[in-house]
Amino acid sequence: MGLVVQKYGGSSVADAEGIKRVAKRIVEAKQNGNQVVAVVSAMGDTTDELIDLAEQVSPMPAGRELDMLLTAGERISMALLAMAIKKLGHEAQSFTGSQAGVITDSVHNKARIIDVTPGRIKTSVDEGNIAIVAGFQGVSQDTKDITTLGRGGSDTTAVALAAALDADVCEIYTDVDGVFTADPRVVKKARKIDWISFEDMLELAASGSKVLLHRCVEYARRYNIPIHVRSSFSGLQGTWVSSEPVVRTTQQGEKQVEQALISGVAHDTSEAKVTVVGVPDKPGEAASIFRTIADAEINIDMVVQNVSAASTGLTDISFTLPKTEGRKAIDALEKNKSGIGFDSLRYDDQIGKISLVGAGMKTNPGVTADFFTALSDAGVNIELISTSEIRISVVTRADDVPEAVRAVHSAFGLDSDSDEAVVYGGTGR
Ligand code: ADP
Ligand code: ASP
Ligand code: MG
Repeated sequence: MGLVVQKYGGSSVADAEGIKRVAKRIVEAKQNGNQVVAVVSAMGDTTDELIDLAEQVSPMPAGRELDMLLTAGERISMALLAMAIKKLGHEAQSFTGSQAGVITDSVHNKARIIDVTPGRIKTSVDEGNIAIVAGFQGVSQDTKDITTLGRGGSDTTAVALAAALDADVCEIYTDVDGVFTADPRVVKKARKIDWISFEDMLELAASGSKVLLHRCVEYARRYNIPIHVRSSFSGLQGTWVSSEPVVRTTQQGEKQVEQALISGVAHDTSEAKVTVVGVPDKPGEAASIFRTIADAEINIDMVVQNVSAASTGLTDISFTLPKTEGRKAIDALEKNKSGIGFDSLRYDDQIGKISLVGAGMKTNPGVTADFFTALSDAGVNIELISTSEIRISVVTRADDVPEAVRAVHSAFGLDSDSDEAVVYGGTGR
């Protein structure tokens, strides 16, 4: 008998019908002879709605209380799912993240899992139950307060439980048929990827492909847990994310390894750009700006420093960060204005990031040139650039993002012949 961890995202359990459909699917896995642990997200856009509600009460709600509020979303879906499974004649028990042994640090709203002690889950499945676990939440080791793992965090809960329970596989069920070469909501001709390495998936996820959260992929790579991303709305095979490529045997008996040169195009419109204007061009300035940001526990993404104007000896430094951290960053820098010594701050939340990802880039010198050519042919202006060994990213105007993604996708020959990229549900929020 195997042990399967399944995760169902918000769009898969958006309403009572969805919950009943997912319940059937979980029962099928059990009937196929597996022990089943199902991690579930909040119904539909519940988490966004709860955040909106909190902001109406207080523009900067306390992290501890926001976590208390948001974890209620997953409690609703876990209990309903357990009820639906019982209705089908099978035993199910629901557990909060804390009951499931998800132990985190104490950073509210983006806690990191530091340990998983799934004793109660193990006992529950050993007794023949299906265990349902609330995703996205844990309990702080130090403060014993309830924490959340950051938006999309149920993916991480699933992989962390799969690792702790030594599961055979972690299945992530969502509203598309797997990982595609671009977001199917933007590129109708995106192709489903059969297999992708942890490395390429990590870059795609970190660059905004929210089909998997990057912390979840990091975790899966560290513990070598294969992930199968697939739709809860269809019976199709999805995408395998693992360290070992799938080897296929062709009709002629040849063995073929699926390893694409370019894995895909990711985009992200959740970031903003802060420009610190009029910074003295002398050692220590960048250090004090980014120390201020780090002390406010804000993660930044890209950084550029302009060439300083010779006449003034002043320069500008721009960086990108999640929009949700924008207010905090501006406040922290303003507070330290005299210490750092700059003229003013500019904040721009109408930016988007487009990234091209693929291990083939390491050995293929033309990729960067082709990427920029595709953007220029589409009339897209580039504001910032950053690269890694297997990724190139640019920042553009937010309005240009859909067109830019489609242009790059076509230019790298990623378009499929058929429109296979089906989006089954969700609002894309
Ligand atoms: P869930 O609620 O199941 O966690 P998410 O909305 O977090 O679902 O993630 C699924 C969504 O990710 C898809 O609906 C799709 O719009 C988006 N997405 C972005 N990039 C990709 C990609 N490369 N492949 C598949 N889906 C992607
Ligand atoms: N419900 C949480 C969110 O919307 C966690 C998740 O869906 O993974 O971010
Ligand atoms: Mg998600």
